[in-house]
Amino acid sequence: MQDRVIRAITIDGSFRVIAVRTTDLVQQAIAIQGVDGGDARVFGELLTGAVLVRETMSPSHRVQAILSRPERGQMLADSHPDEGGDESRGAMTRGLVNRVGDGALAELLGEGAVLKVIRSMPRGQIHQSIVEATGARMSQALMTYMQESEQVLSTLAVTAVVEGGRVVAAGGFVVQILPEIHEGPLALMTERLTHDFANIDAFMVEHDGDARLLKDELLFGLPHEELFEGVVRSGCDCSEARVLSAIATLGAQEIAQIVARGEVVSLTCEYCHTPYAIGAETLRNLLTPS
Ligand SMILES: [Zn+2]
Repeated sequence: MQDRVIRAITIDGSFRVIAVRTTDLVQQAIAIQGVDGGDARVFGELLTGAVLVRETMSPSHRVQAILSRPERGQMLADSHPDEGGDESRGAMTRGLVNRVGDGALAELLGEGAVLKVIRSMPRGQIHQSIVEATGARMSQALMTYMQESEQVLSTLAVTAVVEGGRVVAAGGFVVQILPEIHEGPLALMTERLTHDFANIDAFMVEHDGDARLLKDELLFGLPHEELFEGVVRSGCDCSEARVLSAIATLGAQEIAQIVARGEVVSLTCEYCHTPYAIGAETLRNLLTPS
């Protein structure tokens, strides 16, 4: 089983479903950031949430989700399409944890906590919104975001199931209620979401997070067509070019001094821990307008 996203819509126009498996993505991101145990659940759910928001709102644009609480720290999930925004090539997601003290990441939810979501828009604008994250679970905060900030009527669930200290299954779904909704299907879906899918942990573990099966079960008995299947994975879009453009913001004078001293600028990407060493020769090019 591979991490993937499935998007589907019912023929009668009642619902759209987005289902994802993020097990591998979450396992890799938590390993890079050194997160384990109960913390892995909370971090994994935020990563999965960023993927789901992107897949629901605009698959070919970047979504960053930042959960923070005063004096507890913050964590960030950044889900972005591959260069060029070609969604058939899959999307990458990376994460970052900044703790204050040694509290559990679950403490990032609760009184005073906020979830900030930053979405890139088609012409380069940014859509940014903040909602309270006072509930005990990540799914609640993400659903509040979808309804309050995006005016998308939906039920959302994310999970990263931890057993024996490791993540054994991760993923989630969005069931979006569309304007053409009819009473019958709404009653059926409400019943289904309240009873069978109130907790998807057991389902995700039993079926290895199978996104297609999750979609099939959510839409059981409701004729639908699949709109898209794509790959989601752990990944970072850092590069030497991006590091250089960050260094360029230091200004010509400072860069000239580094070059004059013959220093090598060493930087490590805080998301994926890739080390970059930029030599004076490369830095000199920054000073020469091309
Ligand atoms: Zn990186």
